[in-house]
Amino acid sequence: MIDTHCHLDVPRFDADRSEVLARAWAAGVTGLVIPAIGPKAWEPLLGWPQRDARVQVGLGIHPQLLPSLPPGDDEQHLALLDSLLPRGAIAVGECGLDGPSEAGAPIERQLRVLHAHFELARKHGLPLLVHCYRAHPHLQRYLEEHPIPEAGVLMHSYSGSAELTAFYVKAGCHFSFAGPVSFPEARRPLEALKKIPLDRLMGETDAPDQAPHPHRGERSEPAYLPLILDSMATYLGEELRERTAQNARRFFRCAFDVG
Ligand SMILES: [Zn+2]
Repeated sequence: MIDTHCHLDVPRFDADRSEVLARAWAAGVTGLVIPAIGPKAWEPLLGWPQRDARVQVGLGIHPQLLPSLPPGDDEQHLALLDSLLPRGAIAVGECGLDGPSEAGAPIERQLRVLHAHFELARKHGLPLLVHCYRAHPHLQRYLEEHPIPEAGVLMHSYSGSAELTAFYVKAGCHFSFAGPVSFPEARRPLEALKKIPLDRLMGETDAPDQAPHPHRGERSEPAYLPLILDSMATYLGEELRERTAQNARRFFRCAFDVG
């Protein structure tokens, strides 16, 4: 199993990061992707895959971080990102659009920064890890005007409606589902799941957020990935664990086959 999105670098794991990793491997997780959320995280993260190839990293600017970064620094940050991506990143991201962050980072700026990530993904031949929360009309409009890069787009912690899902499927996106798919009242994620071709599906914990049932409300961690995949498997069949792992290895172009 591969956890395609977990923020193991954040301070909430400082006290017990190695135990968290040990629990993940013991639970059958064989690889994970840490999407950096901003410039300060980039350089330190690049050393991690060199120490342990089961841990791979994406580099990007999270839209929720934009309000705390001066707009005047965007160009400089994106140039730094361009220079660091070839040093071992397997994806561009986390990037995307975030409705609640519009107060501190207008959607025009968010779209400019997102567009730069798309261009970098094209330039470096890397897939994109995309966050979209309460901003789907903007992302839809963007994708209508800009084809997705050849290496693909992974819609992370996906929770869109069945109708939105049809749009993103047609645009060529992949999808990963997090803890909410396991909640007893989960209806929308399950409706969406049924619209997605099996070869475009992956699973993630989004640790430390969105812990699956029965850990809801607690800190999430990659060892909970089986709970999420098992919820998806209830609807899609037992082979889902294997399928999502295959999809992740293909999407991240065998990054996890080494080591
Ligand atoms: Zn994230």
